[in-house]
Amino acid sequence: MEENSPSIAMVPCPGTSHLITQIEFAKRFVGLHPAFHVTLLIPTLGPPSPSMNSILQSLPPSIHFTILPQVNPHDLPPNANPASLMLLTVTHSLPSLSQALASLTSQTHLVALVLDTFSIDAIEVAKRFNLPAYVYHPTTATTLAYLLYYPKLDDDGIVVSRKFGELELKEPLELPGCMPLHAHDLLDAIPETSDDLHGMLVQLSKGLHMVDGILVNSFVDLEPGPITALQNVCPVYPIGPIVQIESNISSDSSECLSWLDNQPKKSVLYVSFGSSGTLSQEQLNELAYGLEMSGHKFLWVVRAPNDGVANSSYFNSQKKGDPLEHLPKGFMDRTKGQGFVVRSWAPQIEVLRHGSTCGFLTHCGWNSTLESVVCGKPMIAWPLFAEQRMNAALLSEEFKVALRPKVKEKGIVEREEVSRVVKCLMEGDEGKEMGRRIEMFKDAAVKAFSKDGSSTRTLENVVTKWKTLKI
Ligand code: UDP
Repeated sequence: MEENSPSIAMVPCPGTSHLITQIEFAKRFVGLHPAFHVTLLIPTLGPPSPSMNSILQSLPPSIHFTILPQVNPHDLPPNANPASLMLLTVTHSLPSLSQALASLTSQTHLVALVLDTFSIDAIEVAKRFNLPAYVYHPTTATTLAYLLYYPKLDDDGIVVSRKFGELELKEPLELPGCMPLHAHDLLDAIPETSDDLHGMLVQLSKGLHMVDGILVNSFVDLEPGPITALQNVCPVYPIGPIVQIESNISSDSSECLSWLDNQPKKSVLYVSFGSSGTLSQEQLNELAYGLEMSGHKFLWVVRAPNDGVANSSYFNSQKKGDPLEHLPKGFMDRTKGQGFVVRSWAPQIEVLRHGSTCGFLTHCGWNSTLESVVCGKPMIAWPLFAEQRMNAALLSEEFKVALRPKVKEKGIVEREEVSRVVKCLMEGDEGKEMGRRIEMFKDAAVKAFSKDGSSTRTLENVVTKWKTLKI
C-alpha cells in the first residue's frame, strides 16, 4: 500500500455473515473509488472458520486485512448470547485495535473508521485517533430505527413486561415511517433491564447517535418510510443492496449447481438457514417430511440439529459430523430425483441466480433476503433469531414477497404446513403474485445500484466528505 494513498479502516464484528457483507461493501467502495485502499481489522473470538478463511484469501489487492489477537473466551460471561458475544469481543479487542490503527496511520492516509453496528464500542478508538467514525449497518433501516429508539422503550411506557421470551407491549411499536411492530416481531434480544445485554444495547444506541454517519444496507425504494424518517434525525445513508456477487465455489458445492443445471426452469425451492441457523431434531424431521410431501423439487442446505438453541453454532458454523445422518430414515432414497441435499454450505448467490430456482425458504437473515431480492426469488419466511422476525414481518406484510408458515405449539411448523406453503409458493396464485412483486423490487435494486442510482449517489456523497477531510 502506498504511503499517501487514501484509505479507510473497517471493523467487522465476529460472525461470518457480518464479515461477508462488510467485505462486499469494501469491494463496492474500492470498485467505485480505485484510489482508495481498505483495511479490515477483524476482532475474533475463535479461530477463523474454513468459509471465513476462504473469503479472506480471495480479497482483491486493494483490500487488506489484519486478524486481531483472539479474545480469550474465558474473559467473557459463560452462556452469553451471540449479540453479547459480538459486542464484548469488540470491547475486549480495543487495545489491539488501537495498536493496529497506530501502525496503519503511520503507513497510510487514513480518512475514516467504518464500524459494524455491533463494533460500536470502537468509536472511542476513532476519537483517540481523531478519525471520523461511520457505521456500516448491515441490515434494515427498520432495525436501525428500532436500535436508535431502544432506550426509550421503557421510558415511553411501550413495554409492559420484559420477561425473557415473553415480551409484552402496551400497543404495537410505531416508529416514525416504519410498519407497526408487534412484540412477536421484535428482535429476539429483548433482555430484562437487569441483564447485562440491556445495558450494552443502551450503549449501542447512544453510540449510534454519536457517529458521523450511518451507512445502511437498504435502498430508498425498498424502505422509503423508515429511511426518510431516519434522515430527519441523523445522518443516514442508504447505500444498498450490498450483496455477494459470487461465492467461493468448492467442488462439493459445484455439484449442486450441476444438479440445478439438469432441472426444469423455475422448478426448485432452495432451502437454507444462513451461515449458522439450525433446527431442532423434531423440526428437522417435520421439514424433511413436508418437503417430501409437497412433491416439489428442493435444494436443501442441511446442518446438524441443535440442542434447543437456533443460533448455537453462530461462531462455529461448520460443526463436525455428517448432518445427513440426522435426516429421517429412508429420506435420501425416497427423494432421489426430487431433491438435492448439501452439507452445511452452498454457493448461495449462484443457486439463487440460477434459472431452475423458483423460490427460497429462508431464515430471513438480511444478506439472504437481499440476495433473494436481487435474484428476483419470492420467499417462505422462516425466522430463527436476531432481527429475523422483523425481517419476516417486513417481507410478508409490507413488501408482500414472502409467505409465513403457521407455527404450532412448542414452536414447531408441522409437515402439512410445510407442504402447504411450498405448494402455495411454487404453484399457487399467491406465489405467482409474489414472484411479480419481487421482480419489481429487483428492478428497483438494479436502478438504485446503477451509475446514477440513489445508492450510488449516496455513497458518492459520503466519499466526497471523506476526500475533503483534512486529517
Ligand atoms: N451463505 C452461503 N452459503 C450457505 C449459507 C449462507 O453462501 O450455505 C451466505 C449467504 O449467501 C449470505 C450469508 O452467508 O451472504 C448469510 O447471511 P444472512 O444475513 O442471511 O444470515 P446469518 O448467517 O447472519 O444468519
